[in-house]
Amino acid sequence: MYPIDLSDKRGIVLGIANHRSIAWAIAQILHQAGAKLAIAYQNERVKNSVAKLVADWDDTPLIECDVSDDDNVKAAFDTVGDKFGSLDIIVHSIAFANREDLGGPFVDTGREGFRLALDISAYSLLPIARYGSPLMQQNGGSILTLTFQAANRVFPGYNIMGTAKAALENEVKQLASDLGQQDVRVNAISAGPLDTLSSRVISHYRDMKRIHAERSPMRRNITTDEVAKAALFLCSDLSGGITGEILHVDTGYNIMGI
Ligand code: NAD
Repeated sequence: MYPIDLSDKRGIVLGIANHRSIAWAIAQILHQAGAKLAIAYQNERVKNSVAKLVADWDDTPLIECDVSDDDNVKAAFDTVGDKFGSLDIIVHSIAFANREDLGGPFVDTGREGFRLALDISAYSLLPIARYGSPLMQQNGGSILTLTFQAANRVFPGYNIMGTAKAALENEVKQLASDLGQQDVRVNAISAGPLDTLSSRVISHYRDMKRIHAERSPMRRNITTDEVAKAALFLCSDLSGGITGEILHVDTGYNIMGI
């Protein structure tokens, strides 16, 4: 479909829950470009819907990976190593916070909710890079995560997830520094609001999306497809010199003052 050939690449995509997931759009575009993919799913609850999405794809390993458990992450990458031998692409498209922590006063965020959100949404990139990057030893590789502008500015309702995204964006830079000499690149896409399972539970999400469309330079919201295309670029050799980057795919919203 696009003139990017990934037929010599192997990758794993983590974070598909259903057909609306950003990770699903990314998996599809990587698959269309010829990449051989393994798909990781969180647990039995989402397994069937994920399996249905990739039912037509040949030889696609489906691997359970709950990122709250390091042994589970290690086992998932052991399985990928057994199946593929090596890896070129890792997509981390995972976040979670308790619903009660995605609204109301941020000052009321409890210790356990804080810990959970940071653990799943930010820390998880570390074991993924730790166990995934050794599979990228030969030819280097690309690790990609998804962030949101609330890492830098206040979006009421996004609350603890803003703190988690700030941590995640810092990790992108530190991991890029750690892994750069192995030719492993680490980048993030900072996406504008998109209707998914995760975004819908954020208080004021509808307002956030409406205001984004009203005030961004392009006067509209982004599409999932636009995020997927940017992911294709960051996962391919076209972005070979880019690491530690936070690429905004947000119709320019982040540049505006008012
Ligand atoms: P989504 O709900 O489809 O995806 C979130 C995924 O995280 C799900 O597949 C879920 O299974 C997975 N997950 C949660 N806890 C997990 C765990 N313990 N182990 C393994 N997987 C776990 O929603 P989405 O919007 O596609 O979110 C994907 C990423 O994009 C998130 O990091 C999110 O913050 C980010 N993002 C989303 C938007 C948006 O507006 N939707 C904007 C910017 C960034």
